[in-house]
Formats: sequence, C-alpha cells, structure tokens
Amino acid sequence: MFKANDNYLKLPGNYLFSDIAGRIEAYGAAHPDKAANIVRLGIGDVTQPLAPSIVKALHEAVDEMGTAASFRGYAPDLGYDFLRETIVHNDFESRGAEVYADEVFVSDGAKSDCGNIQEIFSADARIAVCDPVYPVYVDSNVMAGRTGAYDAKTGLWSSVVYMPCVKENGFTPELPGLDEDVALIYLCFPNNPTGATISQAQLQAWVDYANEHGAVIIYDAAYEAYISDPALPHSIYECDGARTCAIEIRSFSKNAGFTGTRLGYTVVPRDLKDANGVSMRDLWARRHGTKFNGAPYIVQRAGQAVYSEQGKRETREQILFYMENARIIREGLAEAGYTVFGGVNAPYIWLATPEGMGSWQFFDHLLDTIQVVGTPGAGFGPSGEGYLRLTAFGSRESATEAVRRIRTM
Ligand code: PLP
Repeated sequence: MFKANDNYLKLPGNYLFSDIAGRIEAYGAAHPDKAANIVRLGIGDVTQPLAPSIVKALHEAVDEMGTAASFRGYAPDLGYDFLRETIVHNDFESRGAEVYADEVFVSDGAKSDCGNIQEIFSADARIAVCDPVYPVYVDSNVMAGRTGAYDAKTGLWSSVVYMPCVKENGFTPELPGLDEDVALIYLCFPNNPTGATISQAQLQAWVDYANEHGAVIIYDAAYEAYISDPALPHSIYECDGARTCAIEIRSFSKNAGFTGTRLGYTVVPRDLKDANGVSMRDLWARRHGTKFNGAPYIVQRAGQAVYSEQGKRETREQILFYMENARIIREGLAEAGYTVFGGVNAPYIWLATPEGMGSWQFFDHLLDTIQVVGTPGAGFGPSGEGYLRLTAFGSRESATEAVRRIRTM
C-alpha cells in the first residue's frame, strides 16, 4: 500500500487563513443576522481594481494572442526579456543596486518562490526565521523535512532557529548566535505581519553576518512599494556584499493589485556560490526549467505596464489610498488608547491586544461583539501572541467602520 509523504503529516492544523475562514463561517452560521455586517481586515488581499494602464496592456496582449502573426506559445522559462530588463532598470539600477537581467527569474508570484527556493539548498540546511513570520517559509521547510520535531505546546520546531521580533527590539530580529550554525535566513521587510521596517545599517549588518558565516539571506521584499521613508532600503542589493549572500523575492500583488493576476520574480545573483563553488543561480535556473513553464505572456505584458509612466502614477495612487486606510486605523486606534505598531511604511497595523487578552481571545471578542475580523498574531508564531494584525487593503468604509466599532467597545 502506498504511503503519504510523512513530512506533510507533521504540519500542524490548518493553514492560518483557512482556520480563520472556518471561524468566520461558523460565526455566520450561528448568527445569520450579523453575518452580512462583518468588517474584514484579516487576510492581506487587495481590493482596488487593476489600474487602467494595466488593463489596457492586458487587452492588447490578448489581441496579440488572437492572431497567428503575434501569437505566443510557451514563454521563456525565466521570463520575457522585455520584463526582466524593465525590472532591472526600474527596481535596481534606479537605486544604485547591481542586478542583471539574467539573474531575474519571473514567476507566478512570491508565494511560489518563497515556498520553492528552499529546494536548491541541502536537506540539512538549518533555517532561521523571524517570530512572528509569514507561515510559508517554515511550512515549506517542514514539507522538505528540514525542521525537526514540532512541539505543540510552544508551537516551535526543534531544528529551526527563531528570532523573536518583539516590542523591545522594535520588531527587528537580532543576529543569530555564532553557535546556531544557520544556513538559510529568511527576512521580510517591510514586514508581514508586524509592519516593521529595517534600516540600511541594520540590513547591512545582516549581509555582513551572512557573508562572514557562509549563510544565505532569502529577502522577501513583497511590500517594498509601501516604504514612505526615503532613508529605508527597498532592496537588499543596496547593501555592499549582498550579491554573494542574498536572494531577493518580489511580488506584483501588493504594489499593483496582481493577487488574482499572479506575477512575481526572484533575483539570484551569479555571485552567489555554495561552499563548493556551485552557482545557486544556475541551480535555480535548472529548477525553474524543469518545474515551471513560464508566467503567461499577457500577464508579463501587464507587469511591464506597471513600470510605464502612467502605470507608476496609477499604482502609486492605489498605494497612497491603502496607506490612508493605514493612517486612519493606526491613528484612530491610538487615539482610543490602543497600542499600535506598523502602518507607516507597510500596509499592516500590529495592534497590541488589551491587557490579559490573548490573540485568539481578542479575535473572537471582536468577531462576537462588533463583527470586526483581524488576524490573531499568535497564528504567525509564539511571539505574535498578544497582537492582532489589521490590514489596510480594504475599502475606505471598512477601515473607518472598523475603527468606529472598536472605539465603541
Ligand atoms: N511574501 C509575503 C511576506 C506575503 O505577505 C505574501 C502575500 O501575502 C507573499 C509573499 C505572496 O505574494 P504573492 O501574491 O506574490 O504570491
């Protein structure tokens, strides 16, 4: 009789957002009169439609696909040159960062890349993650058998190095101890879920650490477009020496509303070599070529349009719209006496739960009493206990209404 991959059997419970959806559904079934009244600031999905310049590019690309002369079949595995060159010019050259088009791998989004990138590292590579953290980094390493045993009491894996991100350290992790022997370090800034950022000097210290200790940083910059402070780095390649120790993952989901359209990319520099001189860029190219057949032509054309003058203007407006939601939530809750973090250079507000109330308890309390949904911080890791994540991705009405209701409590 066949057997399932027992690494998958180690995964505890549901994926966080399925868990939350289940609770909301159960609440709706028990209180049908209140179900329609729920304000959702939980899952981090955008709500603004695709910008006109992007829709236009999609239409034009669809028309091209409809005539024999301009029809395109399989896209190049690594992405079309028109997009990769546009990315290099706009996201890196413009910030003085050294990245080349043949180091950019276009994909169907950052989640795939965050989950898949671990495949090109050895099975015994020790990973370090922030706590709290976007769940994909750990779960994908669980599936690969890299995380040891799960302790249901603490919510921690025995072989994972956790770097607590708490109020006391400004929600930025401290460097792992020298005896930790980490090989893969996952960092995400601006951060999901805390909304924290990292300064150029702090990021440089991570790059120096990785180079000194032969580790690799997987830098998830999915929320880079939300940075408003001009002093903050947008890319890890703005740091000296990052080309020998860092992989960067980007997404079109949050900067241009592609959560349902699907586009992202990963940079693996040619200078990133393992202990035996193996090129990680070539390994990732090999993996991409075998397991991925390219992002759709029409979507890559849409991605290119994000970088047009009009596209930049329109997507900027959307980001400013969400950041106004963030301001309304952050300031409204602070005025009401809550302690809030984030929401300045990130679309997430990290709300401290009232004294003595746990994350899930506060989640249930908000759902029960005022029908507002957030994401319990504990769902992102033990150090997220005592917090609730609210997102700025809803409508203006949902942001103002959530604040109004929380203030009435
Ligand atoms: N990385 C982080 C930190 C995220 O929060 C998300 C989505 O919420 C992703 C990656 C996934 O982005 P994508 O939609 O490109 O798959």
